[in-house]
Amino acid sequence: MVSENVKQLLDEAIVRNTIREDRDYLGVSILGYNCLRKIQYSWKYTAPDSTHSAKTLRIFQRGHLFEEMVATYLRNAGFELITEKTRKLEDLPLDFMDGNFGGHADGIIVSGPAIEGLSYPFLWENKAVGVKSWTNLIKEIPLREKDNTYATQIAVYQAMLGLPNPALFTVVNSNTMEIHCEFVELDTEFAQKALDKAHLILSSTENELLPRVSNDSDYFECKMCSYKQTCWE
Ligand code: SF4
Repeated sequence: MVSENVKQLLDEAIVRNTIREDRDYLGVSILGYNCLRKIQYSWKYTAPDSTHSAKTLRIFQRGHLFEEMVATYLRNAGFELITEKTRKLEDLPLDFMDGNFGGHADGIIVSGPAIEGLSYPFLWENKAVGVKSWTNLIKEIPLREKDNTYATQIAVYQAMLGLPNPALFTVVNSNTMEIHCEFVELDTEFAQKALDKAHLILSSTENELLPRVSNDSDYFECKMCSYKQTCWE
């Protein structure tokens, strides 16, 4: 069918045009994974067991599109937002530990409407998620109990960028387009533990494999891991 041919061309195009970001630093966004070995694989560009499908790549792109959308909403609401697009990267120091550890914070809100209890400046992080993650992320419990990866990202940026005020975490439900907003207090102890973890990973030698999260390949995290084959076979 002609429509199937067109769909195939679209899928092939996104796979062909997606450039794998080989970074020479440990990314903040993966530091919150529970498995040290998985972080090591991701950091050292180990090829995943299979390449990402066109659908998965579109989901990754969705995150960037929704981030820009919410940034526009914030500006329209009167918040002054600094992002990599509005300020030169060198003015927004996002690499730490001599360039071996770093990432891309979504933005910093430097001023905006006077709201009682709101102190500027503060970090802004945004996620676009499906229904399952949305249901988890809107729970009224600390972020680190809902998603350790997101909580780690925010804590590290708050600590390393010198932004002690509570960070704004926005989440878009990509099905219903609802937006969840919550403020995340800086937990210095949690941030320090994350930085200690980064030091541990960075000090691992080229040939040393860091510990697995479990001794059982059927452990739930291993079942979902994109390095399962590499790790266990
Ligand atoms: S398969 Fe399990 S132990 Fe191995 S890297 Fe993945 S999560 Fe870690």
